Amino acid sequence: MTAAIHPRLQPHFDTVIARNPGEAEFHQAVFEVMQSLSPIIGKFPAFAQWSIIKRLCEPERQIIFRVPWVADNGEIQINRGFRVEFNSALGPFKGGLRFHPSVNLSIIKFLGFEQVFKNALTGMPIGGGKGGSDFDPKGRSDGEVMRFCQSFMTELYRHLGEYTDVPAGDIGVGGRELGYLFGQYKRITNRYESGVLTGKGLSWGGSKVRTEATGYGTVFFAQQMLATRGESFEGKKVLVSGSGNVAIYAVEKVHQLGGTVIGCSDSNGYIVDEAGLDLDLLKDLKEVRRARLSEYAEARPGARHIADGSLWDVPCQIALPCATHNELPLDAAKSLLDNGVQLVAEGANMPCTPEAIDLFREASVLYAPGKASNAGGVATSALEMQQNASRDAWSFEDTEARLEQIMSDIHTRCVETAAEFGAPGDYVTGANLAGYIKVADAMVALGV
Ligand code: GLU
Repeated sequence: MTAAIHPRLQPHFDTVIARNPGEAEFHQAVFEVMQSLSPIIGKFPAFAQWSIIKRLCEPERQIIFRVPWVADNGEIQINRGFRVEFNSALGPFKGGLRFHPSVNLSIIKFLGFEQVFKNALTGMPIGGGKGGSDFDPKGRSDGEVMRFCQSFMTELYRHLGEYTDVPAGDIGVGGRELGYLFGQYKRITNRYESGVLTGKGLSWGGSKVRTEATGYGTVFFAQQMLATRGESFEGKKVLVSGSGNVAIYAVEKVHQLGGTVIGCSDSNGYIVDEAGLDLDLLKDLKEVRRARLSEYAEARPGARHIADGSLWDVPCQIALPCATHNELPLDAAKSLLDNGVQLVAEGANMPCTPEAIDLFREASVLYAPGKASNAGGVATSALEMQQNASRDAWSFEDTEARLEQIMSDIHTRCVETAAEFGAPGDYVTGANLAGYIKVADAMVALGV
């Protein structure tokens, strides 16, 4: 099962590398999709005729802009802003904004590329895109974050619209940032255009369950995977990396389903709490006080904080990487396997390295790529767009039930597609091919 690209696709991959020098994360994401495409070569001649793969690897539009703003100390700061509008065959460009010092064009392109297939898998009418900035909100005052967001939107607004491009949050962009971004959009355009951003606050056009959706959705997807082997979360020890929005609500749903999350992490280390994470404490630390995870161990008897080393060395049956890309390399995968891991479902985008993924697939561990398992966030964004378009607001229960159904449908799509193309039980093949076929069909229909 080790990943390789079909010889007929290799020249296309070589072209991607040559046209996008130095963009390692983007190359990795393209490789991951291309290595799944062998079974459709020959089966869909139209896709070759219409050069779908070549067109899919080239974003429709890439916007890079200067973001000047004034810090509290009066100094003028300059950041770089990005919006990569990758593919609009299925609907308006849709995907989050990431504010993190690591952000560069390669990272935004890998995320945008992933988003195209993820959004296709949801079955909703949304294309794919991604944006962000190398701005670091950490340690910045509310006023600084507001001025940065206003400057960012002062350029970005001209590229957005509910039928054109609809951003949302991602790492470093939550309710506070989206509020400042939407406020500036409204100020500039003089339009209360709710459908232009998702992840909005509940009092100004947001959807119930959007905050919880990525974490909940990942766990719903994992629940479906476990069910294929007659298993459930009941009584299982679970690790969830990260402690942001995705991780916190993954923990919440695991606990609701009878599992025990015994560890999570942030950029300064990880905690282990064998009794099961105290969710109220975690939410207070991370959502209210924006504090370090080390304070969790100080406040909770029996919990340990470990500053060095890897969360993935802690024995568990289920691992949900919900932090960031390439956070789970080969040695971590080996450690998880040695400790008897049964399932790995990605809440983050591309958290497992290709070598780690190969190992899980060879060992027949249940493994779900993020474009399938974390699609609940963007799917609920599409539900938010539906509510905005009809000026409606659904209940928490109704919205959560729709999310659960969407995750179940994505799971079915992956399982059926994998079986159809001769790789039963392989979610990588299932997700990549199901997403690819959906987008490719639309691209053929719409012409060049
Ligand atoms: N940033 C999320 C993702 O990676 C959500 C995007 C959205 O809601 O548009 O899918």
